[in-house]
Amino acid sequence: MSPSFSSLNLVLLGPPGSGRSTQASLLAERYQIPHISTGDMLRDEIQRSSARGSEVEEVFNRGELVNDAVVAGMVLQRLDAEDCVRGFVLDGFPRNAKQATILDGVLAELGRSIERVFLLELGDQEIVNRHANRPLRREDDREEALRERLRVFHLEAPALIDHYRNRGQLVCVDAARSVDKVSDDLRQAIETPVGA
Ligand code: ADP
Repeated sequence: MSPSFSSLNLVLLGPPGSGRSTQASLLAERYQIPHISTGDMLRDEIQRSSARGSEVEEVFNRGELVNDAVVAGMVLQRLDAEDCVRGFVLDGFPRNAKQATILDGVLAELGRSIERVFLLELGDQEIVNRHANRPLRREDDREEALRERLRVFHLEAPALIDHYRNRGQLVCVDAARSVDKVSDDLRQAIETPVGA
């Protein structure tokens, strides 16, 4: 069954290591919409040694947040692309209330809205345990950087979560279960009309 949206605009929130990017790619594949990961876009810029890349590299590697305007600019440009017309799944953006407000403004201008905002919930201990079992893939995977990303998440998340909870858009999902179980929950929430 495919959802009856003219465009399916999804946002995934959750701490680092909660499986956001795994779930975002599954959603992208299932609903044939682009997966927009700000972490991947920034990693790309750094690898290509672009001007923006060298500007953000240090901050990124420390696990701190890259400047709101820089990230927002990148996302907004991406959302304007042809392949986003049928929808998108945002992974890693917005990351604070300011970015959420910027996104609202842009979507309103485009005459679009967000269909679902998912919060993947996972405790810090479980995140650290999972992380310890993963090979080091990138510079910001170092434990120190992970701890900084977690600290930033806990600092920014309450206001971000409230932003969406207050409008009844937030769907919380227990991310401590298998990839399949989490993905089933997301699918159900998307395919069940709000208020049903
Ligand atoms: P994780 O989910 O493990 O934190 P990401 O790949 O989403 O990993 O993000 C990696 C890094 O990219 C972040 O620590 C941050 O430096 C930067 N970043 C990603 N998205 C944003 C954003 N929306 N605003 C600011 N910085 C961001």
